[in-house]
Amino acid sequence: MSKNKNLLIAGNWKMNGSRRSLSIVSLLMKYIKTKKFKNTHVLICPPFTLINSFTTLAKRSKLMVGAQDCSNKALGAYTGEVSPSMLVDVGSQAVILGHSERREYHNESNKLIHDKVSNALGTDLLTIVCLGESLFQKKRGNTLRVIGEQLRKSLPDNINVKNMVIAYEPIWAIGSGLIPENDDIYKVHHFISQKLISRYGNKAKKIKILYGGSVNKKNASAILSIQYVDGALVGGASLKFSDFKAILEFCN
Ligand code: PEP
Repeated sequence: MSKNKNLLIAGNWKMNGSRRSLSIVSLLMKYIKTKKFKNTHVLICPPFTLINSFTTLAKRSKLMVGAQDCSNKALGAYTGEVSPSMLVDVGSQAVILGHSERREYHNESNKLIHDKVSNALGTDLLTIVCLGESLFQKKRGNTLRVIGEQLRKSLPDNINVKNMVIAYEPIWAIGSGLIPENDDIYKVHHFISQKLISRYGNKAKKIKILYGGSVNKKNASAILSIQYVDGALVGGASLKFSDFKAILEFCN
């Protein structure tokens, strides 16, 4: 792994966890403290119900806590919605947007994700936007076309590069134990990087591009070593301290 890499390792807990999971937060905080990570940032994104207790516990720690979604609206009569400023209010530092499970099960369009991204970037939240192709699209050779379109339509023209993060998550790799060839990951990340630079200029080089989809302790080292991979978005393997720790061991 290149020593100069500035990595972000984010855990997406999806609809998992309870107040008992505070013990995992404590273990992670202790681990991060002893490891003295210089170039690695660690983020966990539990369900909304746990954000407040996690941020309270992790207050003086380097462990960051984020959310898995937010509203495209700022305030008002939107039952069930949570705004970016409400996330900030409970100490959240980040938000994941456009995850393929939200795109698929909640019919989230690129336009809706675009509006959520604008809303989140209006606060100081680190905003992680997920992009990814289906197996059908991959098999038809459409990966870059799909990623290019999602990227163009999900991101607003006005972004704060400091708070913008992209996660490439092939849908077929999520939770399946399958991952793309390293060279395919390189090609997509390089493509995303080029598209970001051509749209936003050289300052877009600051935007981290994470890989997500079946990252585990066996493949993390190889994936994190790929050029243009600036970290990982980890689902299943972030739920167990020992598995997440094993991935973090490759950082620094
Ligand atoms: C995810 O859904 O964001 C994810 C990366 O899941 P997993 O690591 O379980 O494939």
